[in-house]
Amino acid sequence: TGACPAGILDGLNPEQRQAVTCADGPLLIVAGPGTGKTRTLTHRIAWLIGERQVAPEHILAVTFTNKAAREMRERVEALMGRLTDGPRKMPVVGTFHALCLDILTAESDGDGGSVVDEEERREVVAEAVRQVRAQGIATALRPDALGDRISLAKQHLLDPDADLTPVAGEDAALLTAVYRTYQTLLARESAWDYDDLIFSVVRRFESDDAVREKYAARFRHILVDEYQDLNLGQYRLVRALSPPGKPLCVIGDPDQSVYGFRGSDLRYFRQFTTDYPEAVTLRLRRNYRSAEPILEASHQVIRDHSIQPDGGRICSGIRGFDTLTVMALPTERSEAVAIGKAIERMVGGTGFHSIDFEKTDVTGLKTDRAFSDFAVLYRSNAQSRVIADVFENAGIPFQIARREDVFGRKGVRELLAYLKIAGGRGLFSDFRKIIRMNGTGMGRKTEALFSQWFYENRLSPDRVLAVVGREPLPGLSDVMQRHLSCLVSQISILKTGMSGKSVREKLGFLLENTGLATVIRESARREAALTLLLRKADAFGGDTDGFLKMAALQNDPDVWELSAQKVTLMTLHAAKGLEFPVVFIAGCENGFLPFRGSPNRPVDTDEERRLFYVGLTRARERLFLTRAGRRTIYGKSEDREISPFVRDIEERLMTFEKNRGHRAGKKHPVQLGLFN
Ligand code: ATP
Ligand code: MG
Repeated sequence: TGACPAGILDGLNPEQRQAVTCADGPLLIVAGPGTGKTRTLTHRIAWLIGERQVAPEHILAVTFTNKAAREMRERVEALMGRLTDGPRKMPVVGTFHALCLDILTAESDGDGGSVVDEEERREVVAEAVRQVRAQGIATALRPDALGDRISLAKQHLLDPDADLTPVAGEDAALLTAVYRTYQTLLARESAWDYDDLIFSVVRRFESDDAVREKYAARFRHILVDEYQDLNLGQYRLVRALSPPGKPLCVIGDPDQSVYGFRGSDLRYFRQFTTDYPEAVTLRLRRNYRSAEPILEASHQVIRDHSIQPDGGRICSGIRGFDTLTVMALPTERSEAVAIGKAIERMVGGTGFHSIDFEKTDVTGLKTDRAFSDFAVLYRSNAQSRVIADVFENAGIPFQIARREDVFGRKGVRELLAYLKIAGGRGLFSDFRKIIRMNGTGMGRKTEALFSQWFYENRLSPDRVLAVVGREPLPGLSDVMQRHLSCLVSQISILKTGMSGKSVREKLGFLLENTGLATVIRESARREAALTLLLRKADAFGGDTDGFLKMAALQNDPDVWELSAQKVTLMTLHAAKGLEFPVVFIAGCENGFLPFRGSPNRPVDTDEERRLFYVGLTRARERLFLTRAGRRTIYGKSEDREISPFVRDIEERLMTFEKNRGHRAGKKHPVQLGLFN
């Protein structure tokens, strides 16, 4: 190994080195959490370039989040930086969605289409449902449920003409109608949704061999992280690019497979060695992340359900705190307060106004931590509300890793709509956002007229700008006409003012000239969202299209900033692949873990267990499991039982923390321990 250039193999153990330097051909790396899978993949890229002289542009690495992709690029760059002096091309490292958008853009004749983000997708689904209802078709399912199924259909590579029974059961006919209308609406605006990105590329590859071969030839080495979470579309994409015999390295942990509800299927992971019979399988056994008690507890949760042949026991040898801390509180508010108090203790806090922690007896805690050392993980986004509320009151800085909290914030949402419209890239929904924000007094009825006119005339937003104000809109009052033409001329003026500016300058210009600056200044959260957006814009210089593409593709973990001196609040799903010195899992209750299914979405208890396992294994040094005895769910207060998964952890590994609730605690008697 000493022969390898410039320390690419430094900081790897022998098993990891073997994985990094394993010869070409299909390679499967199966290993538990924190064993350095992602690190190994990064080093393998650098090794291919530095040692095997593979041109970087011939390497494709697919990761789970844009953030992971960026970190991987930076790591590879740093490792490669030691190898060469001159500038080099970089390997393609990105998510499946980003990769497919690039391919679609490159392969489309004009300048391709735009991507509807999550919020817009919901609006288009709602419009499709409205149109289907207008045709007299009864829809018992809610638009969100129908949207989920359209998404699922696409992940199963089913188009509207296919038999949709596998994803919709007896609602198949209804789904066909909504799905078809939905696709028409998207096509009218040359827009793709997330799932279209992958579906379209797979369709293209499978119907056009020349295109497929072009990309298969270009990406000679393909590496995929988190392979256990592939769905059919992603699997077929990888297959199309990697016919048998090609170097393909996939990495994963079947015990961390948590996306079944999005069509992921462990089958693809399992059949890797059948798909590629010459595949070499390697394992990594040493964990570098978590203290032993955390690993032991995690193992007790997964062991009888593990998909790993050896039950998945991994060791780190890291000595740490002897036990996990378990806290049971009367209500969700007192749970949030208890978490806040524990954090305050550990940062050595004194000056927080509303929490008095002198009586807490969270013993033996390190008291010099930074806020960024902590993550509070939960099953359901709804749980973040009360936690955020309590933290805000207590002055604990926090960030919520949720796409909507940045891109969906009032003010920011409209800012992006303006940027798109003025850049000729907007969708009808962007136009509607601007109309709503400007308080044109356009009621729902007028708005419906407007959208009907838009859809019936198959207009693009650009055409709207050209037509409105010049031609009267049928059925629209004079006042409304005037409002609209005012708006349109305002947009034209903005458009002129923006030309030649960088993305950052454009955003600044829009803020000042649309009244949005005032809207955003009204709330600290809006300001925080804007700050993050502007910071992201900085990286794009004058590339507005690139910026908008980034904005559309961001998902929950992408809006999370490692460097911020803040406590992280995120869902268990978003935390996959990440690690924190101190982790709280909030809501360790039956109903959250496992999550209570709905008639539309039955629970997969094993998957829920794996999700809990993912959460436990995010912790490096300390782990807190908290729960509330009573909680408001969908507006109704209910008693909550402890999560059955927690019961699988031996009591000797847990300390039951005596804790008193804040405010609520005064009304309720003090509770002792999770099992009391
Ligand atoms: P997950 O299953 O959660 O995605 P993973 O297997 O991808 O985990 P990594 O995130 O790559 O694991 O690594 C976990 C931690 O261990 C990281 O902080 C990483 O830097 C560290 N690590 C991995 N290998 C080594 C090593 N050989 N020496 C020191 N630290 C290591
Ligand atoms: Mg990883």
